[in-house]
Amino acid sequence: MGNLIGGVLVVLVILFVVFLILRELMCWYWKINKMVSLLEEIQSSLSARNSTVSVAGTAAGAASASSGSDWEICPFCGEQSLKIKTTCEICGKQKR
Ligand SMILES: [Zn+2]
Repeated sequence: MGNLIGGVLVVLVILFVVFLILRELMCWYWKINKMVSLLEEIQSSLSARNSTVSVAGTAAGAASASSGSDWEICPFCGEQSLKIKTTCEICGKQKR
């Protein structure tokens, strides 16, 4: 009886070792470890890039929105007037 339990234990240990070896073999064969580290690297670089791009994108968007038009609102009469002019064409007051 003791022999049987010992034999079962030995078989289980051997199966476990074989499983570990096969697992390492599969990881090596399919380059799973390499793929995982590469994917994590890609994800981290992508998220870093995304945060910088979104910040730059919003800054560029605001800049283009403010500089895209040649017109601005006169602070005195509220009418649109050309940005290149320092005085309002409508009310004649100095804008800047
Ligand atoms: Zn004006």
